[in-house]
Amino acid sequence: MNSQNAFEGLSPWGELPHQRGTNLLTEPLLNKGTAFTERERDALGLRGLLPPRVFTIEEQVERTLMNLRRKPSALEKYIYLTALQNRNEVLFYRLVLDHIEEMVPIIYTPTVGQACLEYGAIYRRPRGLFLSLNDRGHLAEILRHWPQPGARLIVVTDGERILGLGDLGPLGMGIPVGKLSLYTACAGVHPYYTLPITLDVGTETEALRTHPYYIGIRQKRARGAVYDEFIEEFVTAVKEVFPKALLQWEDFGNTNAFRLLSGYRHRLCSFNDDIQGTASVALAGLMAALRLTGGSLAQQKILFLGAGEAGTGIADLFVTAACAEGLSETQARARCWFVDSKGLVVKNRGDHLAAHKVHYAHDHPFIATLTDAVKTLRPTALIGVSGMTAAFTQEIVATMAQINKRPVVFALSNPTSKAECTAEQAYGWSDGRAIFASGSPFPPVELNGHRHVPGQGNNVYIFPGVGLGALVSEAREITDDMFLAAARTLAQLVEPEDLALGRVYPSLTKIREVSLKIATAVAEAAYRDGLAGRARPADITEDIRSRMFNPVYRDYA
Ligand code: NAD
Repeated sequence: MNSQNAFEGLSPWGELPHQRGTNLLTEPLLNKGTAFTERERDALGLRGLLPPRVFTIEEQVERTLMNLRRKPSALEKYIYLTALQNRNEVLFYRLVLDHIEEMVPIIYTPTVGQACLEYGAIYRRPRGLFLSLNDRGHLAEILRHWPQPGARLIVVTDGERILGLGDLGPLGMGIPVGKLSLYTACAGVHPYYTLPITLDVGTETEALRTHPYYIGIRQKRARGAVYDEFIEEFVTAVKEVFPKALLQWEDFGNTNAFRLLSGYRHRLCSFNDDIQGTASVALAGLMAALRLTGGSLAQQKILFLGAGEAGTGIADLFVTAACAEGLSETQARARCWFVDSKGLVVKNRGDHLAAHKVHYAHDHPFIATLTDAVKTLRPTALIGVSGMTAAFTQEIVATMAQINKRPVVFALSNPTSKAECTAEQAYGWSDGRAIFASGSPFPPVELNGHRHVPGQGNNVYIFPGVGLGALVSEAREITDDMFLAAARTLAQLVEPEDLALGRVYPSLTKIREVSLKIATAVAEAAYRDGLAGRARPADITEDIRSRMFNPVYRDYA
């Protein structure tokens, strides 16, 4: 039997699997390890290949957790979990789902950042496809090497802007791998359908190119026509080999990210999580914060530090949302201000502004520093998306707290080492009044007898649900309205108990429920707007729920 049928046997869309003996034990989507039952061991030629005692999945999870916790560092834990994923995916996802708050920081930010930095050294088994400039002319052929021809969800990076860590070239593969693991864990997209891809077009980082363990092609990053033609060949190949695939552009540098998104989003069902997913999760946090501060979205004045993909993405979605509340586009844009590496983004600053910043370059005197911008503009919310460690100083946070009863301070830069301030600083410097969220997790803070629980403005709240909704409805396109619907849904799921702790996101332990509701909202939009590739089912939520992958073992015999 070919691998497609074998894998699809585990999916809600397919038939039953049939593999035997060591083939079964080395196939991570089918392997149950010591949990194969006596009957299965007899029926599937496994007798003798496993130690005699049969374990339950609960016992396997306990044992795995014990082994994991013994590892001396976060990176060792990452390596251990990767090995588990390559051995037994059901057990891996069961462990991740049962201990989601402990596992997400290992399989994703912040640990994944370190894993990427060391990807060359810790690389053990292939996961995903690497396509390099040397493969030009053969991309479709190489995509066909992927053993799962029914792949429907691709996360692709070219490694130029990995988290806030810069140009890591193909070391960035950890990101598509991690994001797809989150799709499965958090939204139940079957792992059979997922395909991580890294495009190696070189790197600007000389230290990597000359490093003895570097895994990529040793050349400077391609730009211009060479780059564009490579991407064009890639997109054409994806459409040919995986015609039903949804593609997520991930961690591209901002000179390419905006162009690729606008150039391809109508040709290929695709979105950019750094721009649109971030926008949706940050907007949701802001909407939830309004339940603490009072006031409407349209009354906010937001000052961003960082005018890249994340910052302008958030502002663009804020504008869409504020327009829905009655503001004109000009009025809504006037509520968003940016400080980038050169100071306040204003008209006549004297430098050439990238296209994505132009709409937010207001007619205002130039201000050189963030501190002065806060004092002059008096924003209600300060959002850090600059990758600038410690950029929110005590003076800045204290000024925000002088201006606002409950200042919104989001330090979204990842990983933790890049955060504009810590949770402890945000609460400490604002007498506990800041409504704080961060990109990477921070532990709760005790201050003057109050417990503050920082929310994590992690895209994981958004992209898995958006992707699931788009996949199930077979959406032809992913629209800004879908991201707005996702933000509203997420904000509504924040409970009064969360808000009482200062947390503007739901607990991660509810992530499956969150993803299902977001998927429902996205699919609703696809059916309503004529973008779905299939007929609207009677009950959208149940239709989606029935297709979610649950990490439980199937009976094979
Ligand atoms: P980007 O490269 O597109 O933009 C970075 C921006 O920061 C640029 O406008 C740059 O001018 C500005 N900047 C750099 N140095 C600065 C300085 N010294 N002072 C002021 N501004 C400065 O990157 P991006 O995709 O927008 O990501 C930025 C950060 O946001 C990263 O650390 C990333 O990890 C984080 N991020 C977080 C989330 C999340 O938490 N949900 C999502 C996406 C991105």
